[in-house]
Amino acid sequence: MNIIFLGAPGAGKGTQSKRLEERYGLVQISTGDMLRAEVARGSDIGKQAKSLMDAGRLVPDELIIAMLKSRIEQPDCVKGFILDGFPRTTGQAEALDTMLKADNKKIDVVLFLDVDEDVLADRISGRFTCAQCGATYNEVSNPPKKEGECDACGSHEFKRRADDRRETVVERLKEYRKLTAPILPFYEKTGRLYKINGMLPAAEVTAQIEAVMAGQ
Ligand code: AMP
Repeated sequence: MNIIFLGAPGAGKGTQSKRLEERYGLVQISTGDMLRAEVARGSDIGKQAKSLMDAGRLVPDELIIAMLKSRIEQPDCVKGFILDGFPRTTGQAEALDTMLKADNKKIDVVLFLDVDEDVLADRISGRFTCAQCGATYNEVSNPPKKEGECDACGSHEFKRRADDRRETVVERLKEYRKLTAPILPFYEKTGRLYKINGMLPAAEVTAQIEAVMAGQ
């Protein structure tokens, strides 16, 4: 089963796709995480992407499509994958369908996490992750059970993303509105799009997603 998570920055794609990965044994692929790893390594891709990411802009389609293609060709993707943060433009959505078709594969389900825009900026500016294990938290909606200590691994070190600053978030939301939101009709047309109410607490969002999955 191949799944796409769509939604604005801060809609909960990362949190929910990790839960789905554990539950169904699929591979979660976050193009944002892949790019951050390239930036950290100082690779050519990382160098090309860094300034755009820091400015809250999307990186060029050619670069991201090539990166995604080589990732989904890896053997661990054979049983299925969950795309988190891809596609983000109509060009990417079309390229994805073409590359899957060539391999006799397809996207089975597109989960759209629908969240009101006015809550996104607050959600993003409150989020942080464990520097050791990557567990995700939010100051308001999902703090660690014991302040300053990761629930999952006990670490006391946390980090925030550079592009989660408010000024950058405004740009990221603009890019979402202009380039990513227009791809919703592309998937709606083919009956693969499921709208999920992303305003509810995370556990209730997961329950809605599981209900969709149960119907597949
Ligand atoms: P994310 O972690 O998904 O929020 O992505 C962080 C940043 O990486 C985005 O703001 C973009 O600059 C870049 N990025 C991630 N995925 C894509 C994509 N599919 N297309 C273009 N840029 C992307």
